[in-house]
Amino acid sequence: MGAPIRSRPAGVGRNPESPLPPVPGASQEEIRRQNLGAVLRYVHLHGPTSRAELTSRLGLNRSTIGALAADLVAGGLVTEDVPTTARRAGRPSLVVSPRSDRVYAHALSIDADRLRAARVGLGGRILDLREVARPGGMSAVDAVRPLADLVRDMERSVAPDALLVGGAVAVTDTTRTPDGRIRVASVEATLGAALEAELTACPGFVAGDLADIAGLAEHVRGVAAGVDDLIYLHGDVGISAGIIVGGRLMAGHRGHSGKVGHMVVNPNGLPCGCGSRGCWETEIGEAALLRHAGRDPGDRAAVAEVLRAAADGDSTARAAVEQVAEWLGFGVANLVNVVNPDAVVFGGSLRDIFTAGADTVRRRLDTMPLPGAREHLRLRAAALGRDAVLIGAAELAFDKLLADPLNVGVAGQTETATPA
Ligand SMILES: [Zn+2]
Repeated sequence: MGAPIRSRPAGVGRNPESPLPPVPGASQEEIRRQNLGAVLRYVHLHGPTSRAELTSRLGLNRSTIGALAADLVAGGLVTEDVPTTARRAGRPSLVVSPRSDRVYAHALSIDADRLRAARVGLGGRILDLREVARPGGMSAVDAVRPLADLVRDMERSVAPDALLVGGAVAVTDTTRTPDGRIRVASVEATLGAALEAELTACPGFVAGDLADIAGLAEHVRGVAAGVDDLIYLHGDVGISAGIIVGGRLMAGHRGHSGKVGHMVVNPNGLPCGCGSRGCWETEIGEAALLRHAGRDPGDRAAVAEVLRAAADGDSTARAAVEQVAEWLGFGVANLVNVVNPDAVVFGGSLRDIFTAGADTVRRRLDTMPLPGAREHLRLRAAALGRDAVLIGAAELAFDKLLADPLNVGVAGQTETATPA
């Protein structure tokens, strides 16, 4: 894959409601920067929030919140408005809202079969989205040019005063060859740099693993919001995991952790696209479901068809779902013994496979893991769907802005003045 994800956005997810810890020896300027970031991050994650609520949630006094909000308004990052709802007597507390329409990031994804590009506004709102098919055999670096074309296409309708703060790309290491076979290819580390070279108006591009980024999105805004220990399992052509421990993504050496699809679970199993044999994804991937259902290899639509047939009572399709669900539960049981998460989230095509075979998966997990790993465990279907990848990429791209709101704001403003 590309450059590793450095970390989750600072301070996100752990417990955004709690007051900021004091930084020993911090200068007035550092404290102000940190507090500006805390206010902006709060409204970015929670949407429009009154000054009164910010005061209590962030543990800062009223005049400090007022001054910080005014600075963020002057920087063009938020608006302050009189609340529209009727209130009790007295002056109403102004509502601080992220300027989603003005402040945005480029969020890109390179998955096995599609290339997608979105403009995501502050607050996590997808403002615009374009996609094209990824031809079999196209490398991630070869995807840079068509992705840049999608971005330039979107940029044509952006208002002149809009503020582009950065970009991120999520990329899978599992692709198809031109003849449709599955291949595991390491992604060039230069991906972020290649996008920066192509899209010079964007102040920086971060690259990360697709499952890591989708997991981050579920952790920040999805079904696992507020859960600091979780395994996000992503299924498409391959199987990969975004593992979050103590609120931080587990990256590993150069970001290559989480390749759970290549845990060998069946030494007598089928050859895998990685060159090994009997990997977990040969038992729970899309191809496995189609094979068990007696169907030809196919894409996500073919998987959906099997799941529909199973729901309609087709016995072959039902048996295929059961078999994949058995293997899914088996592998997850091993993972929860290792990671000891509070939740396992199933995303991508695994979301639908989990939903169809949930009873079987749960039965495995009710018995196989150690009691300390299973008793508190929640199994959840992902909430953000295909948007998770783009929303997670945007979170990475907003990281710098949220760490130092006014600095990035001013720099970005100058850069976006140059046409792409
Ligand atoms: Zn493998």
